[in-house]
Amino acid sequence: LSTHRLITDPLEQWARERPDLPAIDYQDQSVTWAELADRVHHVSGALQELGIRAGDRVATLDKNTLASVELTHAAAAIGAAHVIVNWRLLADQLAYVLKDSAPSVVFVGAELLPAYDEIKDQLTGVRKVVVVGGDDDEYEAWLAAASPVEPVADVEPDSTALVLYSSGTTGFPKGIELTHRNLNTHSAATATRFDMDEKSVSLVAMLLFHVGGTCYALGGISRGAHQIILREIDPVQMLQAMGRGVTHIFLVPAVVGAVLAAGDIGVQAFSGLSFLIYGASPMPLPMLQKALAAWPDVNLVQVYGMTELAGVITMLDAPSHRDAAHPERLTSAGTPIPGAEMRVVDPATGDDVETGQVGEAWFRSDQTMRGYLGKPEATTEAKTDDGWMRTGDLGHVDDGGYLYVVDRIKDLIISGGENIYSPEVENVLAAHPAVAEVAIIGVPDEQWGESVRAVVALAPEQQLTADELIAYSRERLAHYKCPSSVDIVEALPRNPSGKVLKRELRKPFWEGRDRAV
Ligand code: ATP
Ligand code: MG
Repeated sequence: LSTHRLITDPLEQWARERPDLPAIDYQDQSVTWAELADRVHHVSGALQELGIRAGDRVATLDKNTLASVELTHAAAAIGAAHVIVNWRLLADQLAYVLKDSAPSVVFVGAELLPAYDEIKDQLTGVRKVVVVGGDDDEYEAWLAAASPVEPVADVEPDSTALVLYSSGTTGFPKGIELTHRNLNTHSAATATRFDMDEKSVSLVAMLLFHVGGTCYALGGISRGAHQIILREIDPVQMLQAMGRGVTHIFLVPAVVGAVLAAGDIGVQAFSGLSFLIYGASPMPLPMLQKALAAWPDVNLVQVYGMTELAGVITMLDAPSHRDAAHPERLTSAGTPIPGAEMRVVDPATGDDVETGQVGEAWFRSDQTMRGYLGKPEATTEAKTDDGWMRTGDLGHVDDGGYLYVVDRIKDLIISGGENIYSPEVENVLAAHPAVAEVAIIGVPDEQWGESVRAVVALAPEQQLTADELIAYSRERLAHYKCPSSVDIVEALPRNPSGKVLKRELRKPFWEGRDRAV
């Protein structure tokens, strides 16, 4: 699918073919393709001078930076791998991730030094720490002092280039090894579909430690798009950057919701986009309908995927969003992207279910991770012998081959023997004018095994009682799917990717019982 061997190939190509076109803007820094390639060569050289060799790992602990993109390329160019660490983790999880990934060199953002200092004594293999940014920026001097090194010819396309951790929505984050081939296949299959080229201006407004940040950025680089990278996912910064002719942006549904909630300012800022890509968690249908109405001239594309698959694996394209013949497809995650095969199977037997029946979505693709870092058993559990990746997500497929993701296996509620898919109930309750956001969870029930509980945050200045919400749901949903209890909260707990942490909501109810929350 991709004509590139290594993830550094596109950068080398644009540096030759379009040396003076803009590559990346980050804060007050702007680099052309030639400048970016030159900086990356210096970083590769500096890494080698520190003794980094093929198979080693280097880590970045910082908010989004240009250095992170450079390190991804520079490490990969010499056969090493870049670990991008979630800087929002608390001390114990941060220590876990840095011990688990065992980098030899750590690049720490000046702002993150206190967090790093707190745990550094627990790390044994770190030979060198390089401070990035701040008053005594060591990174710039460090790379400038090194002799440049071009990508090494014998790097294997199936070697690990990047280690990203999953979002930790269902448990502890898992380190995932992605190879050059995984990443190049993903870039070729996605960025092409977004019509990205050197005239595109792509705003990277996702966190680079998440697959949706770095792999989206790599896609842009593969097409030679001009990218603006935001240091933080700050609404003000985002709206300001939008004024610079942005044509492409990828956001999680929670942020799309915030843009819509900002009213005219938000709607205006996004109306000149060519592509608004959203995904990484389900988009409530009422929000999607609002987005379609707000941006009639924008191509809305939904992506579904996971870190283990290097990012996107199915896509609901723009025409399908406005296909009057198939309005139901608005709740679909679309069809597999080029190079990906899909099956829907009974997770217990591994047999295909009939069209329309719910099963676990499995994919086979060159995007499938090499494995979970240092966890061969977990890798074998997740990947079948013949290369299928079990997603842990439930869905069904329609006659046209469109996948409908109905829930995660871990979030499925079974009440009185009936399966209840939380997003279906959430979509109904989210349409209530007083509801800002809602999560549906299963709580223990003597009679039914589990019962449905709604956790709701109200829109500003709205009031709603539990009984009103339950009555509302009963007019719109089968009785057994309706919540039997409601909890009104200030806001839902979310992880940095904007995903609702249902395990946290479930935990107090299941303490001492045998549901794996
Ligand atoms: P962890 O694996 O650590 O629990 P996570 O699964 O949230 O965290 P990611 O790899 O970031 O980590 O997310 C992948 C998951 O996100 C998918 O398995 C799926 O459940 C959900 N997801 C991604 N895109 C969509 C989408 N378009 N619609 C619904 N769910 C989505
Ligand atoms: Mg997952």
